[in-house]
Amino acid sequence: MSSQRPQGRVHIIGAGPVGLLLAALLQDGEGPRVRLYERRSEYTRTRMVSLAKYLVADSIESYKEDPVDGQDVEAMFDPVELQTRLAYRSAVAPDLRALLDEWTRGFVQLNVVENRLTELIEARGTGTVERVSTTLTRDEALELVEPGDVLVDCSGTRALMRDLLLPGSDLDVPGRNTQLFHLEHTLVITFLYGQHYECNEYCKYYKNLESTGYKFIPAVHRTCYEDGTTHVTGIVSISKEEFESMPPRFDGDWLREHFPQIAASMDNFIVRVKRETNGEVISDLEVTRIPLDVYHAWNHTTRRWYESGLDHRLARTPVFLLGDSAIGSPYFQSISLGFECAFFLAGHLANRTLPMPVVFDRYETFMYQQWLRVYMRSQMIKHNKDLLHVVDDTEGLLAKLHIY
Ligand SMILES: Cc1cc2nc3c(=O)[nH]c(=O)nc-3n(C[C@H](O)[C@H](O)[C@H](O)COP(=O)(O)OP(=O)(O)OC[C@H]3O[C@@H](n4cnc5c(N)ncnc54)[C@H](O)[C@@H]3O)c2cc1C
Repeated sequence: MSSQRPQGRVHIIGAGPVGLLLAALLQDGEGPRVRLYERRSEYTRTRMVSLAKYLVADSIESYKEDPVDGQDVEAMFDPVELQTRLAYRSAVAPDLRALLDEWTRGFVQLNVVENRLTELIEARGTGTVERVSTTLTRDEALELVEPGDVLVDCSGTRALMRDLLLPGSDLDVPGRNTQLFHLEHTLVITFLYGQHYECNEYCKYYKNLESTGYKFIPAVHRTCYEDGTTHVTGIVSISKEEFESMPPRFDGDWLREHFPQIAASMDNFIVRVKRETNGEVISDLEVTRIPLDVYHAWNHTTRRWYESGLDHRLARTPVFLLGDSAIGSPYFQSISLGFECAFFLAGHLANRTLPMPVVFDRYETFMYQQWLRVYMRSQMIKHNKDLLHVVDDTEGLLAKLHIY
């Protein structure tokens, strides 16, 4: 008898960036057949995103070079295991690798990521990835799974399957398998600037010197220069009340009319950038309000159902959460984290010598490590941002410093 797992289908719910990357990684001559279910008929999200350099790292040194959490990475990941993961990603097909290299160098629109991954999957012409246009319900998703198949939920923040992965009699209670910490309410503001401009921590401080109430803070490396244009994305912290009185998306004129003080802090920042670099803002401001939360699922798989011995469909169906459906993070880290986890899951789903309980255990451990990493990173970034807000106020600064 073969010791291999049967080669069933992988059903991926959601063809956002992470579901698409997983499909592309699994699209190998030897790989499983994939069905990708997506409810949107076209990709329209044009916001600029960037991917972290660690996704294309070829050594442990370059993997942990981010000053925010390089040492945390060293503390959490066994170097032998990390080396194996780096070796897996160095074997990624050249067409996909070229896209990742490009996207980790600069900025790209989210729908460009989605369209180019879709085109890559089609152009390969393997016939192993089938795309189905539909909005799945939970029951429909479970019905799809035949013996040997696997279901991967890449349906984003409001994950279709997340609440179901913890056994119990209260399966319909929202959030039963989620831990969430709210960090702050913010405006994400984006604009194009017609000159080369780069931002670092000094810039964040000095260009905000006169803005006492609100501060516009481009995140680290959140400017990108190409074709004579710099894409600038940054965030302004706002109160819950302000957040609730704003529409989800608006432009600079709306901001100036309804929240002149926030607009003034932006304008103040931009005036200083112009003074230094002699450029002009060449687009309107695009503003989106978002609550910045960091969250994770307690269970990323149906491991608990398998162990429960219950006579229930979920105890026989391997389900995995991936991307925003598993872990959500603020400060522009989420897609990279989803991609990182997709590498790991793709490698394990393709390796049919591993029994499913082993895959569950490894994935749960890996995801918990990823959660700890991104939780610590997010709290560190938030803390540093809070300090920057009060850096000229000694009393305020001391109140935020908990030394022991
Ligand atoms: C303003 C803003 C700026 C951002 N900037 C950045 C950034 O710079 N960097 C970054 O890393 N992240 C950024 N993010 C977050 C990033 O967009 C998400 O982390 C990312 O899109 C998550 O990818 P995903 O594939 O896991 O989920 P999603 O992108 O949410 O994709 C889920 C897909 O599943 C489909 N779907 C859902 N339910 C069903 C169903 N029942 N049946 C069929 N299909 C379904 C959806 O239509 C969607 O296509 C930003 C978010 C916002 C709001």
